[in-house]
Amino acid sequence: MAKRSKAGQITRFAPSPTGYLHIGHAFSALTAFHARGKGGTFHLRIEDIDPARCKPEFTDAILEDLAWLGLDWEKPVRKQSEHMDDYDKALRKLTTKGLLYPCFCTRTEIKAEIEQSGHAPHGPDGPIYPGICKKLSDEKREDRIDKGDPHVRRLDMQGASAIAGPLAWKDKNQGLVKAKPERFGDVVLARKDVPTSYHLAVTVDDHLQEITMVNRGDDLAPSTDVHRLLQGLLGYTPPGYDHHRLIRNTSGRRLAKRDQDMTIRALRENGYTPEEVVNMTGFEE
Ligand code: GLU
Repeated sequence: MAKRSKAGQITRFAPSPTGYLHIGHAFSALTAFHARGKGGTFHLRIEDIDPARCKPEFTDAILEDLAWLGLDWEKPVRKQSEHMDDYDKALRKLTTKGLLYPCFCTRTEIKAEIEQSGHAPHGPDGPIYPGICKKLSDEKREDRIDKGDPHVRRLDMQGASAIAGPLAWKDKNQGLVKAKPERFGDVVLARKDVPTSYHLAVTVDDHLQEITMVNRGDDLAPSTDVHRLLQGLLGYTPPGYDHHRLIRNTSGRRLAKRDQDMTIRALRENGYTPEEVVNMTGFEE
């Protein structure tokens, strides 16, 4: 486990290896790298829990492209796929508190239930789960689990919020922000295909790596509501947050991995220097 630095921050850049990094990622990585300050520590974390979308060759490309940009980081690099035990421990803790329940619903069943009820409240991650499996008896749950029925594990948001009480985080740009995780509904913390989720893995890792400042794009700002709640439930000290601006393409849309011409790889191959790519991101220390 990383030691807490005496000075500076402990920061991280946490890409998912689902494609080549683009200049938006470079901006985010540079922001986190420089935010560590004097005496601080910078971690690179590979968020590869999704076996269908993550590829080892993209992990290799991430390391290579960031090194080319002049960044270096603490070793070894943490790869989430190698730490399922840590996520399991957190899930057990939440289970002991009675805050997780198995959900056997398919997407189609959830959609049908929402349509039938005539109202479809949406949260930042999509439609709010209508609570079908929350009503199942313990007996029915055990029965279906014993039968090997595929299921996710959801957080009982109402119960969780009641236990955690009001929470807030320190945001570099907005000051103290009140967490409103309720707007997500009963989020999935363990998926059917992998026994964790983005929200859980990122919260556990930021804690275990003793991250003191999370720098990430403002598209992820809503997720911080859920992360702050999980920190409260799991007894973690919350880091500070800097939800930075996103880099947009010429038509004003935020860059995505499909913007192939703006990948660091393509820019390298087209003869740009690291300094030119850094300038292109608009990053200023
Ligand atoms: N892995 C996430 C992504 O690539 C970022 C997670 C985070 O910074 O919290 O979008």
